[in-house]
Amino acid sequence: MKKLLILGAGTAGTMMLNKLYKILDLNEWEFTIVDQYKTHYYQPGFLFIPFGIYTKQDVTKPKYDFFPPGVNVIFNSIDRIDGKENKVYLEGGKVLQYDYLILATGTETRPDMTPGLKDKLWV
Ligand SMILES: Cc1cc2nc3c(=O)[nH]c(=O)nc-3n(C[C@H](O)[C@H](O)[C@H](O)COP(=O)(O)OP(=O)(O)OC[C@H]3O[C@@H](n4cnc5c(N)ncnc54)[C@H](O)[C@@H]3O)c2cc1C
Repeated sequence: MKKLLILGAGTAGTMMLNKLYKILDLNEWEFTIVDQYKTHYYQPGFLFIPFGIYTKQDVTKPKYDFFPPGVNVIFNSIDRIDGKENKVYLEGGKVLQYDYLILATGTETRPDMTPGLKDKLWV
């Protein structure tokens, strides 16, 4: 079996999983997806919460609801990737081998990395 490993089960990772699951031969491919959180956050909906249009319940769902059957789902923090050895190390010591890797761990806001941005105007 060829191993497809997806890091990050946000919007991008979940979409890639569902699209590839439909077109790859399930007798040839093993699918694994890893994320640190079990809850999916619908980020565009965050904008409506301050106006009382959405509540927390409207923008959160279990990630499991979006995974096709038979996929290995691992809820764990990712520590590091060894691209030369095709291995991913998880926090806690578990090691995952892959043939193909998809990185979908998203972005985080880092105002501290732009000089001046965290000065007086950042709240
Ligand atoms: C307020 C707001 C409004 C937005 N509005 C829109 C909109 O109207 N239209 C639109 O198209 N887009 C919108 N976006 C952007 C859209 O939500 C993002 O582009 C999209 O969620 C990015 O998807 P992603 O899969 O790349 O990252 P994410 O959805 O952030 O997923 C990344 C996943 O990786 C996991 N991860 C990261 N690091 C690790 C680690 N070390 N170990 C384990 N797991 C890890 C995270 O837990 C997360 O689940 C909005 C975003 C925000 C914040």
